[in-house]
Amino acid sequence: MKWCGWGDETTAFTDVDKPALRPFIREHLGTDIAGATGSPVAFEDVPVPASRLNTQLSDHLTTAVGAEHVSTDAMDRVVHARGKALRDLVRHRAGEVGRLPDCVVRPAGEEQVAAVLAAALESDAVVIPFGGGSNIAGSLEAPPEETRPVISVDMTRMDRVLSIDAEARLAEVQAGALGPELERQLNAQGWTLGHFPDSFAHSTLGGWIATRSSGMQSDKYGDIADLTRGLRAVTPSGTLVVRPVPSTSTGPSVREMILGSEGRLGIITSATVHVHRLPAERVILGYLLPTWEASLAAMREIAASEAHPSVTRVSDPEETQFSFATKKRSGPLDKLQSRALMAFLQRRKGYDLKKMCLAFIGYEGSEGHVKAQRRAVGRIVSRHGGLCIGSGPGELYDQKKFDTPYIRDFLLDREILADVSETAAPWSGLGQVYADATAAARGAFARLGVPGYVMCHLSHSYHSGACLYFTFALVPGAGRVPLEAYDEVKAAIQQAFVDAGATLSHHHAVGTEHARWLEQDISRPGVAMLRALFDGVDPGANLNPGKITGLADGGSERNHGSVHLAEPSRRVVAEPVTRPQTPEPAPAAAATPAPAPQAAPRT
Ligand SMILES: Cc1cc2nc3c(=O)[nH]c(=O)nc-3n(C[C@H](O)[C@H](O)[C@H](O)COP(=O)(O)OP(=O)(O)OC[C@H]3O[C@@H](n4cnc5c(N)ncnc54)[C@H](O)[C@@H]3O)c2cc1C
Repeated sequence: MKWCGWGDETTAFTDVDKPALRPFIREHLGTDIAGATGSPVAFEDVPVPASRLNTQLSDHLTTAVGAEHVSTDAMDRVVHARGKALRDLVRHRAGEVGRLPDCVVRPAGEEQVAAVLAAALESDAVVIPFGGGSNIAGSLEAPPEETRPVISVDMTRMDRVLSIDAEARLAEVQAGALGPELERQLNAQGWTLGHFPDSFAHSTLGGWIATRSSGMQSDKYGDIADLTRGLRAVTPSGTLVVRPVPSTSTGPSVREMILGSEGRLGIITSATVHVHRLPAERVILGYLLPTWEASLAAMREIAASEAHPSVTRVSDPEETQFSFATKKRSGPLDKLQSRALMAFLQRRKGYDLKKMCLAFIGYEGSEGHVKAQRRAVGRIVSRHGGLCIGSGPGELYDQKKFDTPYIRDFLLDREILADVSETAAPWSGLGQVYADATAAARGAFARLGVPGYVMCHLSHSYHSGACLYFTFALVPGAGRVPLEAYDEVKAAIQQAFVDAGATLSHHHAVGTEHARWLEQDISRPGVAMLRALFDGVDPGANLNPGKITGLADGGSERNHGSVHLAEPSRRVVAEPVTRPQTPEPAPAAAATPAPAPQAAPRT
């Protein structure tokens, strides 16, 4: 993984084979992307503060995992300091690496994880579980003011499929398995998990669970929250075991508490997940629809129908135009076909090409099943004025989807900031969320007086609604602090989500990036419940402090939002809920004495 960018060192985005991209960006962002105008500082010039690991803790960690798996190497510490949010990349590129972990440890099994946590608690150190490091919500960064030693626990040595129960269609997998390795081991036995986030190559099962991830085929397989039945996690009070039962009535779901916990409740060591037999057939078809409104209506009807595709994804007109602009140089025959199609759409179907929307719908299963699904979906799309354009565009999308994220670094090299915000809302509210969020982004561009572009797609359909995924780009220009300009746009979109009744994130989690909107999303008592849970399980605030609900003193909040407790103490149990009808101000939160951290058992 690149230390200040996305993905493999050997892969990079280029516009050389995409002739329409340069004019497209010039038209919409007023910038010429012909050559790089900025570049990251050389790693040798990055100031890397010395590790604060003390000898006693270092010795205990060495005993736990072996000397070769305790690293204080500068590059290792920098790579493990943050995820891949735009904010992370911008600061890393500038050589501002923040509060680095003091060491990276790599346990090989659950016993070693328990020993690492016990050593950390004994020394009152901070532990931050690390999967692939791909999160984009600020879920990995230690609080800048953290004075205790910080240990990054890299889980990727724990990457084995431990067992497959073919009868129950469940597999037990170690939490550090990266997507490709996990699928390789499952595929070898004829199975698949069916979880394919765009970050697949660089993210792990444990990270997916800890952030409530969603993959592109969630329509068929479900989100990671649906796929995860059982799990094991090392916590300050011992090893938590959630049995992989299909359903249970054991009070509030502990399984759900771990899902999305971002390392604040413990270190997930393994999970038992749904697996499916590899499908006999798999196809992704491209469709065109006349407008965004028709596209939303078609997707809603597909979700309500008996058709059950594996992927439903439709781009708004702006994203459709962008997709066409990133198309590779085509041969004369392709060009001819494409011109003929556009002429047909305009003349025979009455399309306004600027309003047209590109969709990808995927099908998996037996030949008969796929045929029936295609027919059912085809009828719905056609009722909404759309048509199928075959498997070519879908195949291309399927092959290229893991490469697209590399464009962000290419744009950063040209001083263009690009990022995403995603949400979910009921079908009845999606149109409004879309209108409000795009207007909010454009309003922010106008306030800043900078060129900007916003586009969106719908993906991950459910019974009652879907996810809307917005991508935006802006050119902050000289004289502006890039991240301040970025914050203006990002905050406007996020605020539009919660104001319109949507969630702050469908699958990118809360971290520190979205924490300021948490109370508006899950209500004040909801935040108080989460704080009570985190503080109760981890009274010393040793586990990834500051994520989701912020630190007690608000110290780690990047956006200076409303998520903070009244008392400047890490050990406050929970903020009292203010009752609106009470005229007197609510009493200040009572600080409780910190219970001594309990060491996890070593066996
Ligand atoms: C280009 C790009 C594309 C993306 N596409 C998608 C997408 O399509 N769908 C999607 O859902 N997300 C996507 N993401 C976001 C990201 O990949 C997810 O949040 C992913 O689930 C993080 O997994 P990870 O293994 O990289 O976790 P990390 O980034 O390493 O960690 C994320 C959080 O989980 C905690 N954690 C990690 N492992 C464990 C463990 N074993 N036990 C306890 N806590 C743990 C960490 O402490 C941290 O709080 C994308 C990100 C990028 C940069």
